[in-house]
Amino acid sequence: MANELLLIVEDNEKNRRLLRDILQVNGFRTVESETAEEGIDIARREQPALILMDIQLPGINGIEALHRLKADPETAGIPVMAVTASAMRQDVARIEGAGFDGFQSKPIDIKAIVIAARELIDRVGAGEHS
Ligand code: MN
Repeated sequence: MANELLLIVEDNEKNRRLLRDILQVNGFRTVESETAEEGIDIARREQPALILMDIQLPGINGIEALHRLKADPETAGIPVMAVTASAMRQDVARIEGAGFDGFQSKPIDIKAIVIAARELIDRVGAGEHS
């Protein structure tokens, strides 16, 4: 499968543009939001194949957004990858413990993020959720 729709939740315009460009060049379609609240609405409506979630966002943060997505049967099956600059040891533990399906750190490693996105989508498509 190719051409899947991916949702980018990221408040920083530069990062948003970088993610959009990387993903589109690699054959994905993208939709974006600057806040988690709007991202959750888009996820419900568009049912993206994967959500790339920043952690530090202007309203609710990416971890709270993850909890809301996983608590809603309409979005619970969508994999969510954290994409964050949080380098402090405590933050990493908190993010890894939150239940994200994947984790990528900033600055963004273009090759790694595309591979990770592909793997997550294929894993779900192979029937991890039913
Ligand atoms: Mn941010």
